[in-house]
Amino acid sequence: MIPRCSKYAVVGDKGEILLGRGVVADAFARRLLRVVTHAHKDHTRGLKSSARWSLYVLATPVTFRFLDVLGETVPREKRLELSYNKRINVDGESIEFRRARHIAGSAQVVVESSGCRVGYTGDFKLPGTDVLEDLDVLVVDATYGSPRYQRRWSDWEALQALIELIEDRIKYGPVWIYGFHGKLQEVMIELRKRGVDYPYLAEPVTIKLARITAEEYGIDLGDTRSYLGGPVDESAIVFIHASKRRSKTRLPGTHVRLTGWEVRSMVRMTSPSTFNVSFSDHATFRELIEYVRDASPKMVVVDAYRGKDAWYTAKYIERLLGIPATYMPKVKNIGRI
Ligand SMILES: [Zn+2]
Repeated sequence: MIPRCSKYAVVGDKGEILLGRGVVADAFARRLLRVVTHAHKDHTRGLKSSARWSLYVLATPVTFRFLDVLGETVPREKRLELSYNKRINVDGESIEFRRARHIAGSAQVVVESSGCRVGYTGDFKLPGTDVLEDLDVLVVDATYGSPRYQRRWSDWEALQALIELIEDRIKYGPVWIYGFHGKLQEVMIELRKRGVDYPYLAEPVTIKLARITAEEYGIDLGDTRSYLGGPVDESAIVFIHASKRRSKTRLPGTHVRLTGWEVRSMVRMTSPSTFNVSFSDHATFRELIEYVRDASPKMVVVDAYRGKDAWYTAKYIERLLGIPATYMPKVKNIGRI
């Protein structure tokens, strides 16, 4: 461990990831630059304050487009778009984004400052995420921070199981799929890639984000129309934000919830017309450990603000990989910021 560098990679008690001297990612802090690693709500907190306080807000071009659709607009003069593998230098520090597979536009951040090289994964899953190497300190997301959340299948297998469920049920009526922004769009794209060509219905915001995602990956979304409410009387796949699931599950059709917290089986029937499919946008515990092993940093900080069982992840990394590790914050402050 290089103690001198550990002060350049800190997770604050409101989830702010402090990197180098002048960079903060994924929550507000009074720093020169604010990074948004991706457009999920637990990474955009305090964005308005950052847009006022910081000199620039940094994100990938796709993340800025997502933020616009989601109403989290950053004023033009404050935006600094940074593509993957491009580096900028501000006030003696260099900042670089590397690709993360999570939702479209997701980035990892590497900051070099005062002879220290520190990095933050943001949310990610494997494969498809570049491993950050040669770091003094790695800040890692640990959404599923211990083996008790371990899924025993890959997300490709879960996706195949979802396709089989759709094929099985769609002859009886619509199949409703519930998930968060980013995950819904990923599934919309992946189903089309695999030849599923039933019509898509979705809320306008979901469609706008899907069109941005489809453009990014060069995929044709095919027959995709707006869902404006009420029952659906065709063999369509209906994509609905997870927050609206309860209000929809009484409508005719098959209702499928996408959730990485389902660890009992890939597809689990929860009532005659409702199912959980175990599909996640986050690394499993094993993938997370694999990432840290491959990255082999001099020290690890586990993000305990967003992850579950971060203390366990840190202990595991120390004992089994022999890399000094800690978790932060020790106490969460989830109040408004
Ligand atoms: Zn996320």
